[in-house]
Amino acid sequence: MLKEICLGVILAVLIFLVVVGYDVTPLIFFVAVGAGAYYFATTRGLLNKNFSEHQVSANQQISFGDVGGQATAIQELSEALDFIRNINAIQELGIRPLKGVLLTGPPGTGKTMLAKAAASYTDAVFVAASGSEFIEMYAGVGAQRVRRLFQSAREKALKQGKSNALIFIDEIEILGGRRGRTTSHLEYDQTLNQLLVEMDGLRVDENVRLLVMAATNRIDMLDPALLRPGRFDRQVRVDLPDKEGRLEILKLHTRNKPLAEDVSLEALARDTFGFSGAHLESLANEAAILAMRGNSKVIEQHHFQEAVDKVLLGDRLERRPMRAELERVAIHETGHALMSEIVKPGSVSTLTVAPRGQALGYMRQSPEDDTYMFTRNYLEDQIAIMLAGAVAEEQVLGNKSTGAVNDYQQAMRLAEKIVDSGMSRLGVVSSEHLPGGLHYRVLSEILGAQEARVRSCLISLRAALYRIAEVLLEQERISGDKLREILSGVPAPGQRIYC
Ligand code: ADP
Ligand code: MG
Ligand code: ZN
Repeated sequence: MLKEICLGVILAVLIFLVVVGYDVTPLIFFVAVGAGAYYFATTRGLLNKNFSEHQVSANQQISFGDVGGQATAIQELSEALDFIRNINAIQELGIRPLKGVLLTGPPGTGKTMLAKAAASYTDAVFVAASGSEFIEMYAGVGAQRVRRLFQSAREKALKQGKSNALIFIDEIEILGGRRGRTTSHLEYDQTLNQLLVEMDGLRVDENVRLLVMAATNRIDMLDPALLRPGRFDRQVRVDLPDKEGRLEILKLHTRNKPLAEDVSLEALARDTFGFSGAHLESLANEAAILAMRGNSKVIEQHHFQEAVDKVLLGDRLERRPMRAELERVAIHETGHALMSEIVKPGSVSTLTVAPRGQALGYMRQSPEDDTYMFTRNYLEDQIAIMLAGAVAEEQVLGNKSTGAVNDYQQAMRLAEKIVDSGMSRLGVVSSEHLPGGLHYRVLSEILGAQEARVRSCLISLRAALYRIAEVLLEQERISGDKLREILSGVPAPGQRIYC
């Protein structure tokens, strides 16, 4: 509204000037440039950038008790924060104050939560920003934003009558990357320099004491200057949760949800190797949504199982694949599953042919325990399981399909791991210095041996393959137990499969 009136007035003045015989060209030029600059600045948010969105969310208090599976991180962090809580003792002993804590680890593991919990632990106001907010094309803008961030933290603390403020900078590698590396280095450097200046200026005897926390997944990209004493000299690792940790997080995120008797969070924790806290939160939420859709008052185990698929693979596809395609998928997945049961009885968790995200079907194994180290036998068994999908297609339908591309890539990576870790017939070698032909030959020997093994195994299980694929097509998803039940009837009850 105001804009229109202004425009009208300007236009009227211009017409008046033209009428009285004044040359208006330079005036028009200035007005246009001014308006352009104003428009540009407001739309890019240059003039009125503030950090308020984050401040709102800080109002919901988070404590360390809300963060599951990060006992070590919480302990290290709270030890560091105790320095701030006992500020008098620190001052008397002349200990250098803690200025910065760096949280490192993969996304979704609870770094932001920990920073918020740290703020409530030290009774500090919480102000957050992300590294990407400081990067603009225009020199000086980023540095100015850093200044304003520190300033607004102080002001906010004063307004709320608190003596501590915590500034959280997410994705700090974006603004704190090594200096002189990027093309528009001038801007990055100025922003980073400003951050260092602000941190160096922090003192204990200020009326508001500031602590800077930052999070990154790429500590290797950070400028070493950031990690020097008096800056981010405390580092806390926030890793993916292990099985116990996953269980703890699942408990946290289901505490406000009605669970059916049959729900086993232990089993879910075991089945969700590699899930982050954020994945697990989403899993609990999706399970509740599925229960609601199914008109169920409580969340049942099968809701959780379907939610695992959804979190892993994405939504169900609307498109129904053709019958022939589904049959192929069922046979392919059954091939994987049979091989998995052969190399390790009891290892199949579920088998599905419901199309989701990128996948048309899926065979999930339940890892017994979290494993970080593998033997050669284990790797070969995994290769066999990977190849079994295509072999089953070939044996039943007479040919393979492009559905196995991912399997092959994964099998190839496993074979490379065997060679790289010195477990192939070549012994300890560096693949870089291996003649290409020889490298290729060794890889295909490993893959070929496993393919032959899979062929002979699956041939003897033809009947079971048909039967399981048939049930799978009918039910869309079967549990590992169901699979083993069918399998135990073939070839003869109780007989172990040898191949
Ligand atoms: P990060 O900052 O490490 O990417 P966040 O702290 O933003 O992760 O976590 C995102 C969401 O995931 C949280 O709001 C919470 O719901 C869930 N979450 C992540 N880690 C945990 C955890 N350790 N315990 C409980 N919930 C978690
Ligand atoms: Mg985060
Ligand atoms: Zn496959």
